[in-house]
Amino acid sequence: MENICVGVRVRPTVPSELSNGAYWKVEENRISLHKVHGTPISGLSYAFDHVCDGSCTNARAYELLTKEIVHAAVEGFNGTAFAYGQTSSGKTFTMSGSETDPGIIHRAVKDVFAKIQLISDREFLIRVSYMEIYNEEINDLFAVENQKLQIHENLERGIFVAGLREEIVNNTEQVLKLIRSGEVNRHFGETNMNVRSSRSHTIFRMVIESKAKDTNLSGDYSSSDAIRVSVLNLVDLAGSERIAKTGASGVRLKEGKHINKSLMVLGNVINKLSDCAKQSKLTRILQPALGGNAKTSIICTIAPEEVHIEETKGTLQFASRAK
Ligand code: ADP
Ligand code: MG
Repeated sequence: MENICVGVRVRPTVPSELSNGAYWKVEENRISLHKVHGTPISGLSYAFDHVCDGSCTNARAYELLTKEIVHAAVEGFNGTAFAYGQTSSGKTFTMSGSETDPGIIHRAVKDVFAKIQLISDREFLIRVSYMEIYNEEINDLFAVENQKLQIHENLERGIFVAGLREEIVNNTEQVLKLIRSGEVNRHFGETNMNVRSSRSHTIFRMVIESKAKDTNLSGDYSSSDAIRVSVLNLVDLAGSERIAKTGASGVRLKEGKHINKSLMVLGNVINKLSDCAKQSKLTRILQPALGGNAKTSIICTIAPEEVHIEETKGTLQFASRAK
């Protein structure tokens, strides 16, 4: 795959908004604006690596938009998958899924353990962490007491979040259990726009370390490939909606500004993949896993209803810029 994959996922219309009708038409890897029951509005049509319509399952979304990144991570390449979009467009559904259709995080974890089983000449060590960035503060979702963590940098570790709990894990169930306990700690705010609108970014991270097994009797296993460490980030971003639309003010406005700053910088980072200027915590944390040989998947989720048209256009424009 290319290093950046940009996909769009349209969620199904939700019953309360059905009367608005779906305004977007998906044909293969293209999404176009339609009038209700009408003809295409010329000019408003975008093509991406993949476009998934409302019938797309998380299983399919994983196949199309994340699987290659996960497989590359097992082979030693850093990777990041983002869910970007306005609140209620399906970011959390995509990353975390439902009871019946597990999301990308669950599928990625399962896939990593399945993959490493098949690699007999290497030994693996898998560590996971789960953090939230809320109002430019980093909180550990695996350990409630770890709040307002700081980003540090040194030669040995590069950029890292000091004090963040990393759990060594051996199987999918163990990870899912940790995530479930982490969800309880996740910070949800409320805005005029959506009662459970998420105001924070969450990063689920797997560090995949592997070492060549010493099968060579002459003891010669000093190849540069002897030890590999790669990082896989699965990111559920805060809602991309504009501050004005959410009716935000006071503390909410402050949050909104931070969120937009992260996403703005993220947009630039993803555009250039080489930026190293002063930036938001989110991009600072992710920077080591963006650029170079790293693989990035940007999953832009959109809400199909007419009422969301302006936000959707914004998301599609972001997606176009990211490519
Ligand atoms: P976000 O995280 O972007 O705010 P959610 O993932 O919470 O949005 O989605 C909003 C609502 O729509 C939730 O009730 C969710 O279960 C539902 N939903 C989102 N995407 C899908 C989908 N692809 N299929 C079925 N339901 C979905
Ligand atoms: Mg969400």
